[in-house]
Amino acid sequence: MKTFGFGTQNADSKLEPVAFERKAVRPGEVAIKVTHCGICHSDLHQVRNDWGNTTYPCVPGHEVIGVVSAVGEGVSSYKEGDRVGVGCMVNSCQVCDPCKAGEENYCEGPKGFTLTYNGPIKPDGTNTYGGYSTDIVAREEFVLRIPDTIDLEDAGPILCAGITVYAPMKHWKLQKGQTLGVAGIGGLGHMAVQIGKALGAEVVAFTRSESKREDILKLGADKVVISTDDAQMEAAAQSLDMLINTIPVPHDIAPYIALMRPNSALIVVGNMISFPEFSPGPLVFNRITLAGSLIGGIEDTQEVLNLCAEHNIAPLVKMIGIDQVNDVFDVLANGSDDGFRHVIDMETLRSYRSSNSEEAIALSPPDRGEVVNRA
Ligand code: NDP
Ligand code: ZN
Repeated sequence: MKTFGFGTQNADSKLEPVAFERKAVRPGEVAIKVTHCGICHSDLHQVRNDWGNTTYPCVPGHEVIGVVSAVGEGVSSYKEGDRVGVGCMVNSCQVCDPCKAGEENYCEGPKGFTLTYNGPIKPDGTNTYGGYSTDIVAREEFVLRIPDTIDLEDAGPILCAGITVYAPMKHWKLQKGQTLGVAGIGGLGHMAVQIGKALGAEVVAFTRSESKREDILKLGADKVVISTDDAQMEAAAQSLDMLINTIPVPHDIAPYIALMRPNSALIVVGNMISFPEFSPGPLVFNRITLAGSLIGGIEDTQEVLNLCAEHNIAPLVKMIGIDQVNDVFDVLANGSDDGFRHVIDMETLRSYRSSNSEEAIALSPPDRGEVVNRA
């Protein structure tokens, strides 16, 4: 399948048009014509090699939405024309304990799970290309169904941002009436505010950005705390039962630990690079759990899609054309976003292809691994 996309060859260059061949569907696989793809801050980290594990060429995109264009032999859950999505994974071993328990995101197979782009979690020399592209193929088990009441342009951010914040709320058992803090109100954070409210929590948003206050309150937050204001942070001391910290860069975590009540849980989902030294004293004295969490399993991803449908939860998206993608990366890199999630309208990529196809850099075909357990 001839596929057109936007990708990069190294950490310093901008995303450019690329062309490659995706292997046609094999038994158990689903091909999707991509209509929309959200831009996650992880796309920027991965393209820039912030985590030191990027495989180039890198064609990002893991909030992929579209319509089924073909199904392989034995596919029983989807048919041509269905509204579907693919999040951060396209494959996993399917036989290890985490996979069997619906936690493919912690797959213990020899390669771990296969990321939608950047290949297997434990690199084996192969690569995958993501949703900044006209078409994508994934095994059936990794395809999500978009509920009828969710617009295709709104669905993408639920597949990464939504599940990443929902999974820790579920795992650490956020209770009705508890106080949930959310630090960093961007793509993940603004989904956490809405999902936390739907689960019955009192939600406090911690943001540096006074300009976001009104939107954050409209999303349902009970309170907004300006995180750069020491007096406001001190007033919120020991008030939270759970905090989801989505801040994407190294930062002092001590002021966030100070927000936690006894027996609470502070979950880091953003910064994966480093924290400056901090005292574990407050953790010990208050039996605070300091933990991390990675996206979520497929069953939970479908669950959060359905929850969003049930509660009319939608991300606040700004639609962009493919020609604006490098500008959006600059905005995310500067931490100067004035909104919550950018979503690429993939029709703009198709128009771009019609007028600029000769410019595209030819890439070697991506590899999505074996389709184990299928005929
Ligand atoms: P966004 O850029 O959309 O949002 C991050 C928010 O953090 C910003 O809106 C801003 O909020 C705040 N922020 C940004 N820069 C800074 C800074 N320099 N100092 C302090 N605060 C800052 O990112 P996403 O929500 O898409 O992603 C957030 C992080 O989560 C990323 O690091 C991403 O890689 C990671 N991630 C992790 C996943 C996982 O599985 N654990 C899955 C998906 C993403 P405000 O203006 O309110 O202060
Ligand atoms: Zn993401």
